[in-house]
Amino acid sequence: MHRPKYKRVILKLSGEALAGDRGFGLDTDIIASISEYIKEIRDLGVEVAIVVGGGNIWRGRSGKGMDRTTADHMGMLATVINALALQDALENYDIPVRVQTAIEMRQIAEPYIRRRAVRHLEKGRVVIFASGTGNPFFSTDTTAALRAAEIEADVILLAKKVDGVYDSDPITNNDAKKFDSLTYIDVLQKGLKVMDSTATSLCMDNGIPIIVFGLQDPENIKRVVLGEDIGTYVKE
Ligand code: UDP
Repeated sequence: MHRPKYKRVILKLSGEALAGDRGFGLDTDIIASISEYIKEIRDLGVEVAIVVGGGNIWRGRSGKGMDRTTADHMGMLATVINALALQDALENYDIPVRVQTAIEMRQIAEPYIRRRAVRHLEKGRVVIFASGTGNPFFSTDTTAALRAAEIEADVILLAKKVDGVYDSDPITNNDAKKFDSLTYIDVLQKGLKVMDSTATSLCMDNGIPIIVFGLQDPENIKRVVLGEDIGTYVKE
């Protein structure tokens, strides 16, 4: 049997990843197949914490003419909708799950408490971190970096639509070149679209490696955890 390379991971799922080809809302078939591989890595003994985005429903910066803080609050609520959908799908695979929100909504989920989150992970429960950092003007990528530092995760698995980091947009440019590995400084200096600069800096300052990989095939979640060289590895 293959042994996992990591003990504790943060899986960052963008809202887009949960929307499938529709690009908006929730694709329950996609969420089910993502859940299947989350179960597989958990069954290998990996402690899995998930940060969900909200871009399939709402992004703060799309609120043209709106107060940005209000628009960001809406974005954070969108992540909670996604977290509940994912919780439900994971429970269909008999995986114990806890959603923790950075903005309290106790009737729906636990509030984020670091020690409790770590305890859940140690007991084999999957923890979903929702409502981002709880603060406007941040992103769920920054949330992933922050929570990874707090719970001492070994790596951030950044699941994307494209299968890694390229020097230009591979969708519009056939000659775009994929990077196998990059340093945080490369990402910042070249302005590569891995994470926003706040999230990248937080990973750099705390030495948290990031693996960017494609989620078209959800089995990639397992491949990456087993140490297969897919996607792009970002480190010091
Ligand atoms: N958001 C926020 N603070 C956070 C995390 C998220 O205000 O700490 C809001 C922000 O408006 C963002 C939205 O939630 O646009 C959805 O998050 P994000 O854009 O990161 O989702 P993704 O692109 O990963 O789907």
